[in-house]
Amino acid sequence: MTAETTMKTKVYAALSADKPLQLFEIERRAPRETEVMIEILYCGVCHSDLHQARNEWHNTKYPCVPGHEIVGKVVQAGAQVKKFKIGDVAAIGCMVDSCGQCDACKENLEQHCKKTATFTYNSKDRKTGENTLGGYSQRIVAEESFVLRVPENLDLAAAAPLLCAGITTYSPLKRFKVGKGQKVGVIGLGGLGHMAVKFAKAFGAHVVVFSRSHSKEPDAKRLGADEVIISTDKAEMQKHAGSFDFILDTVAADHDINAYMEILKREASLCLVGAPENPLAVEAFSLIFQRRNLAGSLIGGIQETQEMLDFCGKNKITSDIELIKIDEINQAYERLLKSDVKYRFVIDMQHLK
Ligand code: NAP
Ligand code: ZN
Repeated sequence: MTAETTMKTKVYAALSADKPLQLFEIERRAPRETEVMIEILYCGVCHSDLHQARNEWHNTKYPCVPGHEIVGKVVQAGAQVKKFKIGDVAAIGCMVDSCGQCDACKENLEQHCKKTATFTYNSKDRKTGENTLGGYSQRIVAEESFVLRVPENLDLAAAAPLLCAGITTYSPLKRFKVGKGQKVGVIGLGGLGHMAVKFAKAFGAHVVVFSRSHSKEPDAKRLGADEVIISTDKAEMQKHAGSFDFILDTVAADHDINAYMEILKREASLCLVGAPENPLAVEAFSLIFQRRNLAGSLIGGIQETQEMLDFCGKNKITSDIELIKIDEINQAYERLLKSDVKYRFVIDMQHLK
């Protein structure tokens, strides 16, 4: 295969915002000099996949092939590729390229590239200008510098969600220096939330889960939570007023963040990683009276993603998953909307033939 040739590739794609995902065929280019082609074994299902398949962020180009929690094997490598050889296990997260020149890229924060990172799907390929197509796919091509190594001791299917849910929670917990002696809250026990609990616990914090559902309480404790607060119980919330050092908000839908601002300590932060479709209302008083901070965080850079994967290898951390076949993806989306997932769907790609 030369650089100009392409390979027919089966995918699952959304062809419009109001249609279920369906089997579709695309062309993948052969890897260029510094690129690898990966045969995909597993791909996690992130709530961002659903937001974008259904155009909830109002920027989706169709056909849209979601998927940015990708683990597979290298099947082709360009002549200049140094990090990988054919047959190696390799992983791709939310980005496949960036400008490499701006301040953000030079500080290993490619997700904040001034010229916009090339995201794994629904983004503009900086070489071809085409719309990028993600991991619900037999294979994918990416710059080797954006391809990660998975520690050998980790189960590959359960490691896939680390590529987004993992790094998205690890990065802000690190940035806000979560550790021993701190009381840390995690709002929402879903894909991101359950990883946040595992990391906050591993960093030594006292971890409190906010869930709407009593049914997740035993799981929250098993995952490492010291306490579970049912967030709809106002009296219970008020008992914790002014007591949290940090709260990570992973909620994917409309919700009231002011109740959470009130339970932060003076000058403490609530960091949003959840990305609901509609704007959230913020009460000025919940911020100004105790000069609290409302922050945000977007995935993590490539170097930090590798650091997180290595940390997971050392500490035997993976995601709790439910393995599905790709033709079950539309049911999985419906279950995601009902928060009926324990705690990440991962597609076993061997059925996409
Ligand atoms: P998920 O598995 O669906 O989990 C979201 C959790 O939020 C649910 O399990 C549920 O927890 C809670 N929740 C859902 N609807 C709610 C509502 N109406 N009110 C209050 N709580 C609600 O989703 P995910 O894959 O973890 O993704 C979460 C969000 O993060 C999505 O918006 C996604 O797009 C975003 N995201 C952001 C980044 C980033 O870089 N910032 C990266 C990846 C994903 P309980 O049942 O326990 O209440
Ligand atoms: Zn994601």
